[in-house]
Amino acid sequence: MRRAWRAIRNARCSSPVADTAVFGRSSAALRKAVAGEGCYLIDADGRRYLDGSGGAAVSCLGHSDEKVRAAVHAQLDQVAFAHTGFFTTDVTERLARKLVENAPEGITRVYPLSGGSEAVEAALKLARQFFLEKGEPQRRHIIARRQSYHGNTLGALAAGGNAWRRENYQPLLVQCHHIAPCYPYRDQQDGESAEEYGLRVANELEEKLVELGPDSVIAFIAEPVVGATAGALAPVPGYFKRIREICDTHGILLILDEVMCGMGRTGTLFACEQDGISPDIVTIAKGLGAGYASIGAMLCQEHIYRAIADGSGAFQHGHTYHGHPLAAAAANAVLERLIDDGLVAGVNAKGDRLVAALTDRLGQHPHVGDIRGRGLFRGIELVADRETKAVLDPSRKTHARVKKAAMENGLICYPAGGTIDGKHGDHILLAPPFIISDDQIDELTDKLARAIDTAL
Ligand code: PLP
Repeated sequence: MRRAWRAIRNARCSSPVADTAVFGRSSAALRKAVAGEGCYLIDADGRRYLDGSGGAAVSCLGHSDEKVRAAVHAQLDQVAFAHTGFFTTDVTERLARKLVENAPEGITRVYPLSGGSEAVEAALKLARQFFLEKGEPQRRHIIARRQSYHGNTLGALAAGGNAWRRENYQPLLVQCHHIAPCYPYRDQQDGESAEEYGLRVANELEEKLVELGPDSVIAFIAEPVVGATAGALAPVPGYFKRIREICDTHGILLILDEVMCGMGRTGTLFACEQDGISPDIVTIAKGLGAGYASIGAMLCQEHIYRAIADGSGAFQHGHTYHGHPLAAAAANAVLERLIDDGLVAGVNAKGDRLVAALTDRLGQHPHVGDIRGRGLFRGIELVADRETKAVLDPSRKTHARVKKAAMENGLICYPAGGTIDGKHGDHILLAPPFIISDDQIDELTDKLARAIDTAL
């Protein structure tokens, strides 16, 4: 508390409007964050904001975790940087071991990076190199899903299915192929069970493979629970089992992007554990650094690593800052908090509490179409009409108005919107810290309900 007040006092003399020399997103309209305290961020005017979305599903430990801060300080006093072309470090080795010990079955190797897009780029390149090592250079296609997001760098953007984000850069994007997402609220038909629906949409992967020729395809990439482009869209039971089966039958790799939904966010350390499958390659970021460091990682199965280790001998990739010791120190402490201190084990109970509060407050709201997700990863889809599920007029940018009204109420939530495939409406993503209390869940729900009413 004392630390927070010192920061506020020091910053008060300056304007809360962000310095426009920072080339960010509409920086002139941003408030200036000067302190973090548990589930709250505090601005230069001393206003407190309950972090209902962890920024964008990042801050799983809140903003003042003592263990993580101490670990970063200690590492800074030991070794801050050692280029991975020359050295390994205890701290990165420890991180890799801890991740492998807790990873889905068969995952044995970890490639540490600096964030989510980097992890996805590395995954796509590793998958391509795997087939080169195996003597299959004709494989060149990546299949992904519409309404997905895999990052903003060119390779990751090409894989992602968000039409709006891709539009300006289309000429620079390699061709990827997109199939339907698993979106039961919109696509499950009358009389069709959830399992039947899951099989139907999963089978689109097989149809696409047949169309392209399976021997020309490298991998299928998907978020187990879709985050930014669809608001915590969880798959129906059996969907990913069928996806895994199709990948195996046709000899392509399955890449799961757990950058947003991983690291305990959905109630298990890796979201795919709940779908009973293991990917060939999996990407993580966001919650791994919990906002204390910029870190991501790509993890893979032993057979992929071996193909390269016993082949050309080196994965043809790298970034100056990958495997950074300070970031690894933060991530080790984050994993200790998540796994050893039992924070992930508490996510489902808190998630249930959050859903109950949201349902109680918003379940019958005329413009709330769906409340969905897993664990502390929840989405609310806003509609013009609950019966017809008609989307809100996109020109009203309701999601942006909710964000603004929420900030004015002292709440950070992560709304997104726009129409994709003519179907997708506005939604709000919630991903609060795992340390959120029952009272704070009520505060979140109350502030969000008021923001939705203001925005509509
Ligand atoms: N993959 C997914 C599923 C994401 O949600 C994101 C970011 O939101 C990324 C990749 C890109 O991560 P970053 O913003 O750290 O580059």
